[in-house]
Amino acid sequence: MKRREEMSLVERLYVWEIVKGLWITTGHLIRNLFVYLCGVIGIRLRKPWATIEYPNEGRPYAPRYRGRHRLTLNTDGSIRCTSCFLCATACPAKCIYIEAAEHDDAKIEKFPDRYEIDTLLCIYCGYCVEACPVDAIRMDTGIHPQIYPPDPRAFIEDKETLMMRSRLLEDRGPKALFDDHLTRMQEIEKHPFHGEY
Ligand code: SF4
Ligand code: SF4
Repeated sequence: MKRREEMSLVERLYVWEIVKGLWITTGHLIRNLFVYLCGVIGIRLRKPWATIEYPNEGRPYAPRYRGRHRLTLNTDGSIRCTSCFLCATACPAKCIYIEAAEHDDAKIEKFPDRYEIDTLLCIYCGYCVEACPVDAIRMDTGIHPQIYPPDPRAFIEDKETLMMRSRLLEDRGPKALFDDHLTRMQEIEKHPFHGEY
């Protein structure tokens, strides 16, 4: 940006600058209108708008996107979490609730009998993932927060839900999870908050 004292007389009058601005804006309008009208008659030059028609279209998230949580599993399918409470301690929103219990197997000190995340309170900062010393919680699902029916208690994701997400991710991959998510969002759009999602 030029300082006022560096401007020429024409620039200081602003009239030419306003004309230039209108010229650029009108140019974009005409170009986008032309591309759009070509699209209407079946000639697809390029997409004339930057937005996407979500949820009919989905823009895949970057690999480092922090999405929905999941609790990771051991090779035998058991929960990896050791109930150390570090994630709950690190969580700035205080939305992780854990109840530790003794394990039947003497080699395992304890496990989470109850593990819940209140996704309405969560700010998706990822601190819980960073705090975990055993890689038991991740946010690598590539899908954004689930929308549940209007009851706020439904937004609390329990241990089974978080473990099931790991199984689904392993069985079907992130693309299938993302497609399921889009389908669910389309259903919600058609029937807002009726039935189960
Ligand atoms: S992402 Fe952040 S706010 Fe959400 S549960 Fe983890 S630490 Fe808490
Ligand atoms: S998820 Fe990780 S940090 Fe949280 S309680 Fe389990 S082992 Fe500890």
